[in-house]
Amino acid sequence: MAEPTAGGDARFDRVAIIGLGLIGSSLAHAIKRGNLAGEIVGAARTEQTRATALRLGFIDRAEADPAAAAEGADLVVIAVPVGASGAVARAIAPALKPGAIVTDVGSVKQSVIDAVRPHLPDGVHLVPAHPVAGTEESGPEAGFAELFEGRWCILTPVAGTDEGAVARVAALWRAVGSQVDTMDPRHHDMVLAITSHLPHLIAYTIVGTATELENTLQQEAIKFAAGGFRDFTRIAASDPVMWRDIFLANKDAVLEMLGRFDEDLTALQRAIRYGDGKALEEWFTRTRAIRRSIVEAGQA
Ligand code: NAP
Repeated sequence: MAEPTAGGDARFDRVAIIGLGLIGSSLAHAIKRGNLAGEIVGAARTEQTRATALRLGFIDRAEADPAAAAEGADLVVIAVPVGASGAVARAIAPALKPGAIVTDVGSVKQSVIDAVRPHLPDGVHLVPAHPVAGTEESGPEAGFAELFEGRWCILTPVAGTDEGAVARVAALWRAVGSQVDTMDPRHHDMVLAITSHLPHLIAYTIVGTATELENTLQQEAIKFAAGGFRDFTRIAASDPVMWRDIFLANKDAVLEMLGRFDEDLTALQRAIRYGDGKALEEWFTRTRAIRRSIVEAGQA
C-alpha cells in the first residue's frame, strides 16, 4: 500500500451522491458537517428514501434520476450495492461534465471498476474507494457523520489515473476523519475476502445452521446467545442485498480464502478428534495475539 498524493482540495462545488443508504447518507452528513460542498444532490430510487433524506437534511436536493443528480457535479459518489454500480454508471455517463470525478464506496473493487469504467467518457476521472467502516444497519436513517472517523478508506485507482483527482478524493476522506491508503484493486479484494467477506459468510452459516435446529434447541440458542452466538447474529443481520452482491462480485477471492479456511477447520477438527490439546492451545494463543495487535492499532 502507498500513501496517496497529499494536499488535494477536499471541497467541491457540487457533490452528487447516488444511493442514500448507510454509507451514502453518512458521507453526506460528514460533508455537510465539514462544509465540504457548496451543494449536495442525492439520488435514490424510492420516494420514501428521497423524502427521508430531505427531512433529515443531509442533502440539499433529491432526484429520482441519477443522471439529473450527476449533471453539473464536480464529484459523483456511487453508493449503491456493488451489483448495481454498472447500471448507475451507464445512466449518469451522458450527464457527466468534463473533468468530473466519479468515485464509489463499494466493498469489492475490481468488479466495480470493470462495470463502471467502460461507461465513463474521456476526461472524467474514476477514483474507486472503499471506506472500511459500517454497521449492520442500512437505509437513509442509519447514517451518521462520525461513521468514518479513525477508519481506513482504501483507494484503488488504476494506473494512469489523474493524480490530482486521486488527491482530491483522498483529501475528502481525510476531511471526514478517515486514514487513506491506496491498493491494487485485486489485492484489495483478496485482503477484504479474509478480513470481512469470509467472517460474514461464517456468521451467515452459523446463524443459518442454528435456525435449522429443532425447535427447543433453536429457542435455547436465542436464550443463551451471549456465549458467542450473539456476535454472529449481529454480523448475520447485515443487509442481504448488499452481501449477495459482495459474494457474487468477489467470487474468486472468497473461494480462495474459503479453501484455506476449510483446510484449517479440518486441522482443528482433527486436533479435537485426537485430543491434541497442545495444537489447540497453540492455535488459540496465536489468534489471541492477533486480537491484541488489532486493539493496539486502534481498530478494535
Ligand atoms: P444501503 O443502506 O442498503 O443503501 C443502498 C442504497 O442504494 C439505497 O439508497 C437504495 O435505494 C440504493 N439502491 C439499492 N439497489 C439499487 C439499485 N439496483 N439501483 C439503484 N439504487 C439502488 O447500503 P449501504 O450499506 O449504504 O451500501 C452501499 C455501498 O457501500 C455498497 O456497495 C456496499 O458494498 C458499500 N459499503 C457498505 C458498508 C456497510 O457496512 N454497510 C461498508 C463499506 C462499504 P432505495 O433506498 O431507494 O431503495
